[in-house]
Amino acid sequence: MLDLIIRGGRVVTPEGVSELDVGIQGGVIAAMTWPGTLDVEALRIIDAAGKIVLPGGIEPHTHIGIPVPRVWAGRSEVITQPPEAASRAAAFGGVTTFIDFAGNLPITPGETPSTNPIMQQVEERRNAFAGHSYTDFAFHYIMAGAVPPETIGQIGEAIQSGVASFKIFTTFNAARCPYGHLQDIFEQVAHHGGIMAVHAEDDDIVTHMEEKLKREGRDQGYNLHLVHNNISEDIAFRQILRLAYHTEVGIYFVHTTAKEGVAAIAEARAQQQPVYGETLHNYLEFTCEDYKKPGGTAIHTYPAIKYPEDRDALQEGLADGSLCTTATDEYTTYKDVKLSGDTIETVCGGHNGIETRLPVTYTKLVATGRISLERFAAITSTNAAKILGMYPQKGAIAVGSDADIVVFDPNLNKKLTLDDLHADSDYSIWEGFECKGYPVMTILRGKVIVEDGKLLGETSDGRWLSRKVAPGILARPMC
Ligand SMILES: [Zn+2]
Repeated sequence: MLDLIIRGGRVVTPEGVSELDVGIQGGVIAAMTWPGTLDVEALRIIDAAGKIVLPGGIEPHTHIGIPVPRVWAGRSEVITQPPEAASRAAAFGGVTTFIDFAGNLPITPGETPSTNPIMQQVEERRNAFAGHSYTDFAFHYIMAGAVPPETIGQIGEAIQSGVASFKIFTTFNAARCPYGHLQDIFEQVAHHGGIMAVHAEDDDIVTHMEEKLKREGRDQGYNLHLVHNNISEDIAFRQILRLAYHTEVGIYFVHTTAKEGVAAIAEARAQQQPVYGETLHNYLEFTCEDYKKPGGTAIHTYPAIKYPEDRDALQEGLADGSLCTTATDEYTTYKDVKLSGDTIETVCGGHNGIETRLPVTYTKLVATGRISLERFAAITSTNAAKILGMYPQKGAIAVGSDADIVVFDPNLNKKLTLDDLHADSDYSIWEGFECKGYPVMTILRGKVIVEDGKLLGETSDGRWLSRKVAPGILARPMC
């Protein structure tokens, strides 16, 4: 007797797309057979005829339940939406795992990064999410500022404890980690088998352009792409790539924004450097021209949305394999907070994105015939699982993997309204976006958590994931 059989769908597996029946037992995938040949009883049979059966979405980049800097919010004590709300939105959007952050990122000006032990900070975040998440979760560890040697000395222990990825910034005031410290961090992370998640911008160019635009009276928010610009991404990516080359560390570039970033990643991968690139789903749709519309900076996510040719290069990068993952940089606030600041220094980062990534990416790339269903599964789930150390437990419909599954209806067209979405927010940059295909059921470890627009999961369902990156991923580009 199985717990569940999903029957008659087009199943996207690591071997390709086939009509298969998927049997689930004890939270994992127990059997995959040709249609009608799974001759076992089950407590429930789901008819997926006409639907696509995909590995549950993995969202590799979220900022949930953290203080919003006063300079962005216009006031103190604003917090991005809590795990209950973010994971609820995730579940409705076909996402079964997200990776958020723990660590010592300073929020208020003048604040110095915390020096508490890495695992203490991870434990605090884990406790804040346990019992409060509908989906599984994990944390990258942020190393901000001039990281002290004692903290760098704890990297090995953290990796042993299941924290596989470390995030650094090359800009953003007190968050910026100097290159010397980066060399030490990269060496330690490489030595112990972790991977670096890197927010790469050239700090000199960013700060120079901020000063210059202010001086010239051009500091309106719609000029953000002139501050966080293409040259900055080009230089910063290449410096990180050289440092990574010398220290032999694997790199995961978060939120690639520009054609120059895509090119830098592609060149390094052609040299067999273990480098992987992420982009965001709002970067696939909008351009810096959209900043000028009324309330246009709502679409903004740092670094900045660039030109049409950059948007095209990001789409092409996802299609041709130069880029590996889509993410959202999920950062949900209310509209008054998001639009509080209207200058290049005060526009609030991020948006409520975790729910819309799968249907938007499907609409932009699959429905248009640009990519296959296999590639869609790769850039929304499988590659994040591989790069960030969760594969094959996550990211695959395969016997033995967690039964994290999204049933996707390619014929469900939906023009998004706020009523379709489930975040704690009062706006969406995706209102009016016409989705060609939409998730209709989300299954977490064999439990149906969303079905036909109804939330069936509980906040006690989500578990923290211990991660370990496979050595092959760190040796050469493997996905
Ligand atoms: Zn982020």
